[in-house]
Parts: sequence; structure tokens; C-alpha cells
Amino acid sequence: MVKQLPPRSEVPVQETWNLDDLFASEQAYKEALEKLQRDVKGFAEKYEGKIQSADDVIDAVKEYESLYMQIIPLGTFTNLAVSVDQTDDETQMRDSHFGAVAAKVGSQLSFVTSELLALPEDVLQTAMETSEEYSHYLKELLREKQYRLHPEAEKVLAAYSAAFDAPYGLYNTTKMVDMDFEDFTVDGEKYPLSYVTFEGGWEAEPDTRKRRAAFDAFSKKLRDYQHTTAKTYDAHLQIEKITSDLRGYDSITDYLLFNQEVDRSMYNRQIDLITEELAPHMRKYAKLLQKEYGLDKMTFADLKIPLDPTYEPTITVEESKKYIHDSLAIMGDDYLDMVKRSYDERWTDFAQNKGKSTGAFCSSPYGTHPYILISWTGSMEDVFVLAHELGHAGHFYNAHKHQNVFNSRPSTYFIEAPSTMNEMLVANHLLSNSDDPKFKRWVISSIISRTYYHNFVTHLLEAAYQRKVYEIIDEGGSVNAATLNKLKRSVLEEFWGDTVDINEGAELTWMRQPHYYMGLYPYTYSAGLTISTEMSKRVLNEGQPAVEDWLKVLQAGGTKTPAELSKMAGVDITTEEPLKNTIAYIGGLIDQLIELTDEINAQTANN
Ligand SMILES: [Zn+2]
Repeated sequence: MVKQLPPRSEVPVQETWNLDDLFASEQAYKEALEKLQRDVKGFAEKYEGKIQSADDVIDAVKEYESLYMQIIPLGTFTNLAVSVDQTDDETQMRDSHFGAVAAKVGSQLSFVTSELLALPEDVLQTAMETSEEYSHYLKELLREKQYRLHPEAEKVLAAYSAAFDAPYGLYNTTKMVDMDFEDFTVDGEKYPLSYVTFEGGWEAEPDTRKRRAAFDAFSKKLRDYQHTTAKTYDAHLQIEKITSDLRGYDSITDYLLFNQEVDRSMYNRQIDLITEELAPHMRKYAKLLQKEYGLDKMTFADLKIPLDPTYEPTITVEESKKYIHDSLAIMGDDYLDMVKRSYDERWTDFAQNKGKSTGAFCSSPYGTHPYILISWTGSMEDVFVLAHELGHAGHFYNAHKHQNVFNSRPSTYFIEAPSTMNEMLVANHLLSNSDDPKFKRWVISSIISRTYYHNFVTHLLEAAYQRKVYEIIDEGGSVNAATLNKLKRSVLEEFWGDTVDINEGAELTWMRQPHYYMGLYPYTYSAGLTISTEMSKRVLNEGQPAVEDWLKVLQAGGTKTPAELSKMAGVDITTEEPLKNTIAYIGGLIDQLIELTDEINAQTANN
């Protein structure tokens, strides 16, 4: 049963994360913010118009780095506070204020990159040879040189950065603050509804009438806001289009892929091959669900139901420790130590409360420890989600130890590999510890319904839709709610064929994910999971040597391209082989589910 959520103020402290590790008090935050502004002013006075020699370059970059490291905890602090309660006016205002200060600071500092790139290349070459520490940073800078604008233009654009981010803020405000869901009624009984309770509960509710009624009520409220949300999204798209044109890219897609260090073939392959080759497997899975539930027809509102609702182990945060520990033990002591600290030092916000961001994420500020947001519902699935977020934490925990702040973050293409890798490790651990067919079926169906569904289906369909949106924008067009609904519906219909009825409301799914405000993010989930599926097989087969390779990949941070990082892990993502293997692996898991279900049903019939 889905329950009404308490306000943030009523949540027990031990279920919350400890932001004191960033700033112990409001006063400490304010002082750090003032210091930053003073330091930036001093820095500009010292270096603006004065960077000439290779030594100047290294000195300036070094001080620039320390300013950068001052900004990070400030932004993390204001941002995380908002994410646990979007209805809190005070933290909202503080976050907005920080955004304005950060934009001003960014504008004041924009001369650094402009002046570095205006220097004769041999000066930069000398600096790169002299300083091992900053050579990668300078190399990356040079790569962008052809797309840089006049220094004054860069300054103006940087000053507008908070305004350019406004659509994302508006999107979240509409979704988390303005949308107030009314209770829905089944058989005269009322049930509470919100974004969090829908996505964290009702969507997977085994009672078909309640689940479908919740979906209808949820869709009705989304529909009330579809035009505002579409207009907000269109504003974001137009900003991306103008930026890509001004900087001289051929298209938005080229602009966004350039930043990811990924070519078009790697991007398109992920979308085309999955749509084509995964769809038959997933339709088989949908049919299995339909059969087990005895549904007259399978609708979009039924896709998230658990295969076996009577077998849904529940688990507390305390109990999760052992599962997480045992699953990730193969990663070694240092990794486990980090996991233990995450519990002991309250790195994670477990609470369920009103106004909290939906889903889960990990924020890894350089110089502090990672923070994880999750709304713990007590289902075993939460263990997979937590392991996933700890995968991000473990990635940056390792990268930050070995790389400076400029070099620690790899391309988005690779970001979801370490996280999904941990989901695979949990699954492998659970599977190796039981022969009970019901438990085995539950684990495999969790991998399918969560890990692969989320990363290979939900996000993939987002990616396919997003690609169509960018085609329109690149041709100089714009989008509205009607266009977006149509595009989303067509992508869903193409993937599910006649197996699933794309019922009224499904077309609004584009309103649900914030990923569209983050560039070409959706497709990277399946890319990351392709790498981690291959890698987790290596860990199963080879053990320690594979783990050693993986840790080195994590430690490399952003010093290598996604193709190079994958190669270090023994996976060649420039070919279609890893993706084909992964799709075949998913197909194999679904076949196992069907076999196990037959076996279990035969046993039940005999008893
Ligand atoms: Zn993730």
C-alpha cells in the first residue's frame, strides 16, 4: 500500500544525509561564498591580460584550479538542500542566489580560457611539457579552440549562464512544486497520489484496477501542465541550437557528441540496434507478465508490474548493509571501506518525504565525499538502486584520489558503466547464493524489470525520441506539446508493436524525465550498461585480474576517452559486438524467466 508522505521537517535525522561535511553552518557557507568572490577579484587583477609565458600559464591554471575547488562545495551545498525538499522557499532562494553569484564568477573568470587559447601554440606546448599535472587540461582546451568565440562574447555568454539554465529549473518547479495530485478513487476508497508515490509504488502495484486508476489520475495531472512543460523544453532546445550555431558546429548532435568524445556511429548504433534487436525479447517479457497476471490486454500502464508479486522480499536500510557488503566485497577492502563510511557518516539521504526529488542520484563533489539521494521504500529493489548509486560514488571516490579536479570526470558516455556494474555484482551475488527457483526467478526478473528495463528500454526510448526532437530543431523548427506527444507515442508503438497497447497518457511520458535538460544523456545509460555487462562477465569468469583492471579504469577518471576506458576494461565499444552480446544476454535471461515460471507453475499444479 502506498502511504502519504510526511513533510521534510518530520523526517528522523538518521535517515538524512549530513550536509555539515560541506559547511557546518549557514554562517560558514556565507563566509566561504564571500571569500570566493574576493579571491576571484584578486585573481582577475593578478592575471587578466598578463598571461604570457609557459610559467604564467601553469601558475594561472594552478590558482584557477583552487578557485574551482572553492566553487564546487558551495554549489553542491545549495543544490543538495533543494533536492530533498523542493517546497522549501528558503533553500530555493539560496540556491538561486548561488546560481547568480556563480554566473558572475564564471563571467569574471572566462578570460582564463580565452587568454590561454589566444597564446601562440608553442607556449601552450611548453606548458604541457613542463607540467604533467595540467597537460591533459590544456590538451582538452586546445581541442575546443576551433569552437571558441571572441573573449568578450565568451564573457557575455558566461554571465547569462544562470538564465540559460532556467528551463531546467522551471521544469523542476512545475513538476515538483506546482503539480499537486489529488487522491484517486477505486470502489469508493480514496488513495493518495504524488510523483514519488506513483513512480515508487503505484506504477508497480499488482492490483490492476488500482494501478490503472493511478495511471489515469497521474496522466490527467500531467496533461494539465503539458503546454507549460513543452514550452519550457522548447526554450532549452532553442538555447542549445543557438549555442551550437554560434560556435560553428554542424548540428546540435555534433555539438553535444563533441563534448562526449563520441562519434555518430557509436551514438546511432546504440539507438538503432537496440530498437531493432531488443524489441522482440522485451515483447516476449511483456507477454509473460500478461500471462502470469491473466490480463485481457497488456497496456503501457502494466509494464512495471513485478513478475511475482507474492514474492517481494522487503528490506530495511540496516539489512541492506549485509547485501551491499557481500555483493561488492569482490571490489576489495578500500572499496568496502568507502561503502561502510557511506552508512556510518550519513552520506545517503534515505528518507521519503514530500517535495523530495524523484528517483535517485549520486553527487560527488571534489574535495569532499559523495552524497547519495534515494527514497527508501523498503523493497529489495532499493538494494539495486543503492548499489547503483554507490557505483557512482566508488567511481569518483577512486578518480578523485588519483586525478586533479579538471581530470576526474570522464565523458557522459561512460558515466553509467560503474553504476550499472554494481547492479550486476548484486545480481551475481544473489544468484550464486540460492537454488530456490522462486528466489532465482525473482533475482532475474529484478535484473530485467529494473536494470535492463530502466537502462535499455526506458532510457533507450527516451533517446530514440530525443533524436527525433533534435532533427526538428536542427532544421530550424520548434516543438510543442502536440508534437512531443506524437513523437513519444510513435517511438513507444514502434518498440512494443501489437504486444502492448500504448494507452491514453503514455504519450506524456516525455514530461517525466529531467534527462532532456542534460544533453544527449538518455542513450548513455545503455552504453554504460553494455560496457558493464561485458565487464561483469569478466569478473565472474576471471575474478581478481578483472577487478584490478576495473579499478584502474575508475582511477583514470577523465584522462581517457570512453573508447580508451572501455579498452582498458577489455571491451571494444567501437564495434557492435559488445552491444550484440549484451542484447543476446538479455534475451537469455528472459528465456530463463519463462523456463523458471513454467517450472514453478508445474510444481504449484502438482501440490
Ligand atoms: Zn546512474
